[in-house]
Amino acid sequence: MTSLFPDIATLRSQLDSRAVSATELAQEHLKRVKAASSLNAFVDVNEAETLAQAKAADARLAAGETAPLLGIPLAHKDIFVTTGFKSTAGSRMLANYQSPFNAEVVQRLALAGAVSLGKLNCDEFAMGSSNENSAFGPCHNPWHAHAVPGGSSGGSAAAVAAGLVPVATGTDTGGSIRQPSAFCGVTGIKPTYGSCSRYGMIAYASSLDQAGPMARSVEDCAIMLGAMAGFDPKDATSLKMDVPDWEAALNADLRGKKVGIPREYRMEGTDQAILDSWEQGKAWLKDAGAEIVDVSLPHTKYALPAYYIVAPAEASSNLARYDGVRYGLRDLPDGSGLQDMYAATRAAGFGDEVKRRILIGTYVLSAGFYDAYYTQAQKVRALVARDFERAFQECDVILAPTTPTASFPLGSMNEDPLTMYLNDVFAVPASLAGLPAMSVPATINADGLPLGLQLVGKPFDEQGVLNAGLAIQQRAGFTAQPVKWW
Ligand code: GLN
Repeated sequence: MTSLFPDIATLRSQLDSRAVSATELAQEHLKRVKAASSLNAFVDVNEAETLAQAKAADARLAAGETAPLLGIPLAHKDIFVTTGFKSTAGSRMLANYQSPFNAEVVQRLALAGAVSLGKLNCDEFAMGSSNENSAFGPCHNPWHAHAVPGGSSGGSAAAVAAGLVPVATGTDTGGSIRQPSAFCGVTGIKPTYGSCSRYGMIAYASSLDQAGPMARSVEDCAIMLGAMAGFDPKDATSLKMDVPDWEAALNADLRGKKVGIPREYRMEGTDQAILDSWEQGKAWLKDAGAEIVDVSLPHTKYALPAYYIVAPAEASSNLARYDGVRYGLRDLPDGSGLQDMYAATRAAGFGDEVKRRILIGTYVLSAGFYDAYYTQAQKVRALVARDFERAFQECDVILAPTTPTASFPLGSMNEDPLTMYLNDVFAVPASLAGLPAMSVPATINADGLPLGLQLVGKPFDEQGVLNAGLAIQQRAGFTAQPVKWW
């Protein structure tokens, strides 16, 4: 391979010209995964399965077939169920779970020709912002081994940043694609809610969960998203819409576009380097031809508290299915009955953060508290969505930081879940509103850690988000790479 960190276009032309085979690409990347095992980005690999997929891709290539990702290696966040690999959701509960089917997103990527290298570490059931809640141990940030990669799609971000895979899948419920992308210096987009099927995506909070790609460029995100998105009758919240050709329509000329700067995102506690990069981002988009306008999202400060009611409420309901009867772990102490089995299984299978969320969720949904918490949070959610609707009457896309800080040291927030939750303060509003949102790398801070900028778009305007992201990518010239892990 000419480049050690190739993009999809480069790999495609090498595959098309037979300079390299899908099998060779898979072998090379498997070698890297093995060499970088101390990163703990992968929770399952299965060489035989990967090589079988690569062989099938080589046969399709030899038959003259063209498919957008034919022969391209990738890996999946271990929230997507897959055949051929374990499907654990980062939990002891599903530590040995083998799915009998592929998630729809996984299936679509396979049809598009992608070759899976395995499953990527993540916070248990996607709950977290640091990947420290994984039952399989924390994943490390390739830029600094003692720093977190972000979460919950930490393994995806780390694997892409470290060059173990060119692209990966992630999921975002309240920032889990964008925040780790920012922490690891990669690009990740969460599309409009309903764009990618949730079928086979292990559920956290169903009204928020959304799949998306993580990659080293905006172009690669556009290609991946094109293969992942589209209507699926197996998901009741899937949108009936044609998938545009985002890759073909990429255009970094922003003349005639207005970029909104939400004044409520100037929050105390945000790193100065992040505020500076936000200013720089404005200048870049202006340079690309956009007009910068101030906008207001007045309910921003209520978004995070509302999210931490809605998400645990849905989680408590979704996670009721792990009862020792149907899926995964069963703990049946001697002589015990059904109730004892439920209790023992759930006590042994779930980690602390998941238990915390189940308790909070059960409480806010309980009789007498439901209206005070859950109904109220849903009203706030509607107000947050309305804020964006109003703002988008004055602008086409919103520019904000992805996170208030850069990556933090492993273990530094273990005792303080609330501070950890605050890391999602800029990401959660777009999730509550179901809007497309992306993080693109902007710069490196004084500690050598990457910082990201976030773009939020109107519903279904992934193109507008990608185009503004491309304008930033072209100007940021973010070519730095972490230390070599392989
Ligand atoms: N960090 C947030 C949470 O813990 C978001 C997680 C996610 O988007 N999956 O809920």
